[in-house]
Amino acid sequence: MVRRKSRKMREALAKERIEILWEQAQEVALEKPKLARSWVITAKHIARKARIKLPSRISRKICRNCGTIFLHERDFRVRIRNNRATHVTVTCKHCGTIRRFLVKRQA
Ligand SMILES: [Zn+2]
Repeated sequence: MVRRKSRKMREALAKERIEILWEQAQEVALEKPKLARSWVITAKHIARKARIKLPSRISRKICRNCGTIFLHERDFRVRIRNNRATHVTVTCKHCGTIRRFLVKRQA
């Protein structure tokens, strides 16, 4: 009989693996972007399998489409746009995917 791991354990394990991959990926991102991308994609797979979300501090720094880490300015472009609502666009220079973050005005 196979004992299934509890949900908590499954999530803790996945988080640990994601953290390790994330740290390693950041370290090699500048020298070996291809390797870093593959590690980011692996981390995404782990998150999906464990049915957890990538922490926002990670997901904000990667390209959703290709997994490029936004560390160096050669990898991404940030622009503030002001049509309709003020937002920041982050463009991935590798695949061209655009992400938008709404800017909330401070009262
Ligand atoms: Zn991309």
